[in-house]
Amino acid sequence: MIYLSRPFIGEEEKKAVSKVLDSGFLVQGPVTKAFEDSFAVLCKTKYALACSNGTAALHMALDTLGIKPGDEVITTPLTFVATANSILMAGATPVFADIDPKTYNIDVNQIEKKISRKTKAIIAVDLYGQPADYNAINALAKKHGIFVIEDAAQSVGATYHKKPSGSLADIATFSLYATKNITTGEGGMITTDNAKWYETAKLFRHHDQDEHKKYSYVGLGYNYRMTDIQAAIGRVQLKRLNALTKKRQQIATAFDKGLANIPGIVTPFFEVGNEHVYHQYILRITKEFPLTRDQFRKKLELKGIPTNIYYPVPLYNFKHLISNVNKKEFPITETTIKEIVSLPMHPYLTQKEIQFIINGIKSLAS
Ligand SMILES: *Cc1c(COP(=O)(O)O)cnc(C)c1O
Repeated sequence: MIYLSRPFIGEEEKKAVSKVLDSGFLVQGPVTKAFEDSFAVLCKTKYALACSNGTAALHMALDTLGIKPGDEVITTPLTFVATANSILMAGATPVFADIDPKTYNIDVNQIEKKISRKTKAIIAVDLYGQPADYNAINALAKKHGIFVIEDAAQSVGATYHKKPSGSLADIATFSLYATKNITTGEGGMITTDNAKWYETAKLFRHHDQDEHKKYSYVGLGYNYRMTDIQAAIGRVQLKRLNALTKKRQQIATAFDKGLANIPGIVTPFFEVGNEHVYHQYILRITKEFPLTRDQFRKKLELKGIPTNIYYPVPLYNFKHLISNVNKKEFPITETTIKEIVSLPMHPYLTQKEIQFIINGIKSLAS
């Protein structure tokens, strides 16, 4: 059976968890701190702060930057719902901007059109493992005096202009959910170079409790802590990251080669010089292909090849996120969402399975 995605867990993770369990100290403690320190090294940032999940990380980042009711935050409609939900969690209003047709990331020219006097921040997402265009996004943000958050949930280990994902904006957020490139089961992280933001986020993670005075609270905080059980897994996963990324990139290269020059199939674009870490491998099935995208998926399923769509519905279609939407503002998202399909992608995929997937797709093309 071919899995669509599967976390890579080995003996070392099991041993590390046992060690924490045997220690009798299960909650957030020294192992979490050690995990954070290694994560900051990976991201080349001064600070990394672990938390309970990627959604909490986004909420923490927005609160830390002072985003509040009445503010607007611009983001992409082609992302996991948590990206936009976090804006509501901070009490602010999500505003969507259309995407780039090649990278599927937010289009900086479309961001500019959506900036108003209420705009306080942009959340760019490194979708499928490929960083957004931060040189352009940061320059635009600077011009307007607004913050940039990098939602790096899918891009751990990626680079943009030689800089690691996690270091590309004011604050970056990661998810360590089971299907992400590295995992702690559930888990999250924020990274930043700003000492004040790091301290603010640290309080927010623990009920906004005064660091020097127990049971004294600075404001409204949450319980967004990680446990040392999770952090123990995370430390081992971080050591594996390079190998796991290489494996994903090798699979992507095999798909790129095997599926090149098939009319109606578009393989993923990647910028030479940047590292794309292929959280997902996305094909586009265009009008030139003999089958529709949905027929393509059904036929592959019958052959035992699972596929999925990330994401089947643009976020501006959800009433809780936005009330009045003019779909004409999102021509690229509208066509993209009908054509994208993601292939199996995880480190356990064998050469045989990869070839089976390529052959299966080729047989549909002729
Ligand atoms: C997974 C993901 C999140 C949410 O992370 P959780 O750990 O599931 O809360 C946010 N944004 C993006 C782009 C994601 O892929």
